[in-house]
Amino acid sequence: MIIVMKPNAPEEQIDKIAKLLGSLDLGVHISKGQERTIIGVIGDKRRLRDVPIDLMPGVDKLVPIVESYKLSGKTFKQDPTIIELGGLKLGGDEFIVMAGPCAVESEEQIFESARIVSTYGARILRGGTFKPRTSPYSFQGLEEKGLRYLERAGKEYGLLTITEVTSERAVEIAFDYVDLFQIGARNSQNFMLLREIGRAKKPVVFKRGPSTTIEEWLNAAEYIMSEGNYSVILCERGIRTFENATRNTLDISAVPVVKSLSHLPIIVDPSHSTGKASLVAPLALAGAAAGADGIIVEVHPNPMEALSDASQQLDPEGFRDLMKKLRIVAGAVGKSMGVIPDE
Ligand code: PEP
Ligand code: MN
Repeated sequence: MIIVMKPNAPEEQIDKIAKLLGSLDLGVHISKGQERTIIGVIGDKRRLRDVPIDLMPGVDKLVPIVESYKLSGKTFKQDPTIIELGGLKLGGDEFIVMAGPCAVESEEQIFESARIVSTYGARILRGGTFKPRTSPYSFQGLEEKGLRYLERAGKEYGLLTITEVTSERAVEIAFDYVDLFQIGARNSQNFMLLREIGRAKKPVVFKRGPSTTIEEWLNAAEYIMSEGNYSVILCERGIRTFENATRNTLDISAVPVVKSLSHLPIIVDPSHSTGKASLVAPLALAGAAAGADGIIVEVHPNPMEALSDASQQLDPEGFRDLMKKLRIVAGAVGKSMGVIPDE
């Protein structure tokens, strides 16, 4: 249920209700909109049976939330969520590009990647340091050593950083090194890990699982948010279908569908969805045209030598071309791309 407060209800009235709900052992999530405050109530509603909340000062109305996901849904919060981080506004007017190699492979490789992606206008440097691979014998990532390189490369080139965390241990290790966490497709329904991310309270790019419906995905996001972390950026990275011309099928329709159901920002991953460098640009552009708030894309100084996902990583020229086109498409749907340093 949500409690919709009257326009400009004073802070004391909101506090009073929050205290009352807390004393009844109900979860309270306050969302302050432009004009109104909405109080989300999570827990057993029977505890409110004898409490006339609707008569309390400042309350406009009570609205039941019919969806199984609540905090991530639009009933709870109509205004789009904008996550402010290091001068960036994720989910705002700027189309945000997160770019970098699949994995941090060496200090030199991540510094060169950071140089390339910052030159063409990316804002966030990606680099896997804990690599869940299909085979346990494949390269598994440099872990803490890679995080040190990633952090230094980000600082050197003025980029925020993101890495995937695959376990509670990884969350602990990576916490002080990166600006954002990423939850990968394989862990999209690892609810214990999602709760941990909720408690860690660091912004997270949360990928859709290859076999999860949008409703299941939003319910999974709820695990993060119900622990108090509202800084969730959803990422459509392709789902498993009968089609095998691509690694996965990028569900472009998920972008407007999510926008209609949720206030959270959504980005697309054209790299893991296609598995082929030649398909990355068209799908990145399609994501932008569909209204995504950004992309996360794999770029490697020399993709042929990459230790993972060699066939889908863009080379520097490919990334430069993509950024030029993205600027036009994002601009056509009302998003800016910020200043490109080499222009
Ligand atoms: C990744 O982004 O490095 C990755 C492994 O992607 P996904 O979880 O989408 O497969
Ligand atoms: Mn990859």
